[in-house]
Amino acid sequence: MARYTGPLCRLCRREGEKLFLKGIRCNTEKCGVERRKYAPGQHGQNRGKLSDYGIQLREKQKVRRIYGIMERQFRGYFEEAATTKGITGEVLLQLLERRLDNVVCRMGFAANRRQARQLVRHNHFLVNGRRVNIPSFLLRAGDIVEVVEASRENPIIADNLAVAEHRGAPGWIEFDAKGLKGKFVRIPTREEIQLPVQEQLIVELYSK
Ligand code: SF4
Repeated sequence: MARYTGPLCRLCRREGEKLFLKGIRCNTEKCGVERRKYAPGQHGQNRGKLSDYGIQLREKQKVRRIYGIMERQFRGYFEEAATTKGITGEVLLQLLERRLDNVVCRMGFAANRRQARQLVRHNHFLVNGRRVNIPSFLLRAGDIVEVVEASRENPIIADNLAVAEHRGAPGWIEFDAKGLKGKFVRIPTREEIQLPVQEQLIVELYSK
C-alpha cells in the first residue's frame, strides 16, 4: 500500500494545527507550526475563508494524515464503518485505532505512527504469538502484541519506551513494560480516542 513519504511538519502546517506526527519534537519550539504559523506553499499566507465543503475536506485530510493513510484505503475504512452497526464517524475512528501500527505507537514502542509502521514492516512484532508485518492489521479485543525475541534489545524500541513510560498507556491497553508486550483489551470509546476531530464532517463529506 502506498504511503506519504514527504515532510511531516508540512502536513500540520497545511491543517493549521499540531497533528503530533513526530513525537518529542512536537512539544518543543522546533515544531513547524510554532515556527511558521501559515500554510505551506507559495500562497500559504494568502488563503481565504473556507467553504463548507472545504471545512469537511480539511477534517478528512486531517484524520488521514494523523493515521498516515492514503485516500483509497481511508475510503475503504469509511465504507466499512458505514455498513457497521453504530455511529459511522465513531466506528471509523475505532477502526483506525485498531490498526496494528497505531496500537504499537499507543503502547509506546514507537515515537510516532510512521515509525510504528516501519517497525511492524520490519518484523519486530508478534500478535498472539505469530509474526505480523502488516501495519493495517486490525486487532480484536484480547489480542496480545509483543516484541519478537530477536528485537528485545532494539535501541529504538528501548528509547521510545523510556519516553513513553512518563506518558502511560491508554485505558483500553494493558501494558507490561518488562515483558515488552501489551494487550489490546477492548475497542476504545470515542471519549477515549482523544483526537481533536469532528468525524461527523467526514461522514457529511462522503455522503454527498
Ligand atoms: Fe506537526 Fe510535530 Fe512537526 Fe509540530 S513538530 S509541525 S506537531 S509534526
